[in-house]
Amino acid sequence: MTRPAVRLAAAVLLGLAAPAAAQDDADRQMFIDANLLATYYHELGHALIDVAQAPVLGREEDAADALSTLLIHEIWEPESATDMLRATAAAWLWSDAEAAEEGLEPAYWDVHSLDLQRYYTQVCLFYGADPEARAELAQELELPEERAEGCEAEYALAADSWDAMLAGLTEGGEGRLVLLPSTADQGGDAGETADLAGYIALIAEEVADFNRDYQLPVDVEVAFESCGEANAFYDPETRRISLCTEYIDYMGALWDAN
Ligand SMILES: [Zn+2]
Repeated sequence: MTRPAVRLAAAVLLGLAAPAAAQDDADRQMFIDANLLATYYHELGHALIDVAQAPVLGREEDAADALSTLLIHEIWEPESATDMLRATAAAWLWSDAEAAEEGLEPAYWDVHSLDLQRYYTQVCLFYGADPEARAELAQELELPEERAEGCEAEYALAADSWDAMLAGLTEGGEGRLVLLPSTADQGGDAGETADLAGYIALIAEEVADFNRDYQLPVDVEVAFESCGEANAFYDPETRRISLCTEYIDYMGALWDAN
């Protein structure tokens, strides 16, 4: 499933020769792209668990998070994957700090793990996928040694579980991922999403790659939509992954604020 990370790698290479402002723009774009991809992979996890009727021990949210980190590791070349991991890890830290600043209590009741737990689990799985090459990264991202010791095993368990699930999706299914035309307003003062075309192209490539490798029991739609909140969803009723344009705007604002 490894393919060259053309778009992100190009942004990185461009940056080497680019003036500082252009480098900032490229970093900012990479931050938004990486988080959009990670969130898409997470929602894809929910969709796959639903349509394949896969049994999940533990929290489905954690299983979806694990798939997101696994796909970053498996699909992207190591350097791009590492950049993406840094970007998504930073988003957890920043959104956690932002919530603390606003005086919000950690949502212990939520179906998701807490932002900082999601941060450490993501760093742990990514480190555990290649501990030798990523020892420095684990230090940089302050993964405690007590946790780090078990990360290779944590990764192996997550990878085995998802690989077994994905192996069941290689033949016989009539369904595909279907990227819908965007219904989001692309005109006016639409901030980040004024250029929704770039984000749609990014996800279209993911959808095409997935459809080349896998078949589903039924179609699952993927849509860019305005949802009224900065989020993304999988709805089992409509079998649709919704990527909210507000989420893209939020990631841009999060970058600008940090
Ligand atoms: Zn979720």
